[in-house]
Amino acid sequence: MDTQVDARTVGSDVEPQRYYDYCLRYLPELFRLEQLISVHEQHLRIDVVTQVVSDNQVFPVYALTLGSRAAEVPVIALVGGVHGVERIGSQILLVFLENLCRRLHWDTGLQEELKHLRLVFLPLLNPVGMARGWRSNGNGVDLMRNAPLDARDDPAWMVGGQRISHHLPWFRGAEGEPMQPEALALCTLVEQQLFPADFSLVLDVHSGFGVRDRLWFPYAGSTEPLEHLAELAALSQLLDETYPHHNYLMEPQFDHYISHGDLWDYLYLRSLNHPERTFLPLTLEIGSWLWVKKNPRQLTSFSGLFNPLVPHRHQRAMRRHHLLLEFMMRAVRSSSAWLPTGKQRSHYQINAIKDWYG
Ligand SMILES: [Zn+2]
Repeated sequence: MDTQVDARTVGSDVEPQRYYDYCLRYLPELFRLEQLISVHEQHLRIDVVTQVVSDNQVFPVYALTLGSRAAEVPVIALVGGVHGVERIGSQILLVFLENLCRRLHWDTGLQEELKHLRLVFLPLLNPVGMARGWRSNGNGVDLMRNAPLDARDDPAWMVGGQRISHHLPWFRGAEGEPMQPEALALCTLVEQQLFPADFSLVLDVHSGFGVRDRLWFPYAGSTEPLEHLAELAALSQLLDETYPHHNYLMEPQFDHYISHGDLWDYLYLRSLNHPERTFLPLTLEIGSWLWVKKNPRQLTSFSGLFNPLVPHRHQRAMRRHHLLLEFMMRAVRSSSAWLPTGKQRSHYQINAIKDWYG
């Protein structure tokens, strides 16, 4: 990871006005993120984890960290904008980050909570893809198919990742090439910031699949159950008991399609080198087909397939997932209170196999 930087100098050293105009026009999310950094920098540790170039401009990929610096505290990472066209994920995380920064001025409960927890935000992993309205990054690579890992079961045709051409969607990158800078930066960040913690969790926000909001867990590349099924089942039960009216469906990702090169499969498998620690990567897949169903005009825009276009629906999406983010933050902070052990763990494990792998 790069050293800490002054956000206001990155990307703007050469032609600040051009960078500013470009962001305002094509990347309002990055514009907003940099504004947020300059207003709330006293609460944030700011890293540029990589830089990507497009249209003769350099775009920083930011990681923003709040809370305790101690290696052993639990860590939650909130990731967005992996697929450039799914802007809503980045927007939701920016609203949540701003909410936390504003509350840190007066909310003594939150100040106390952050003494025992670290929050890492990576709200816009793929700025070039987002500026162009693409799913892939600037090189035409689908970052969520880019890990050096083949599916262990039969992947879905094309959707599961292909090496035919970067002009087609779901391109994994050429055989044997290193990971794309954005994917590598994400993996490095997770290994440095999350792996040392006894307990860590990721929520990676996507949109565009189905009418329900889903919480996916690994594997994407295999129908095998993962090691930490009991922990996931306990988390799922905690969510059900705490918010009985929530509308999220937690399930293994392969239920929908099997894919090559999933970054969370790759990182999860690497985390198993530390069996004494628990790393749970979750993907929030916001169901956008309801927005399309209620407003078929959304079909006329590619972006409309992944993001709400009508203002009141956009606002609702902003509010709707705030509760989940708060819940995950609290659950990570207090993981020792609900993580199952001993006999209870086996009990969760058996039931989870029945529920999810029937
Ligand atoms: Zn996505």
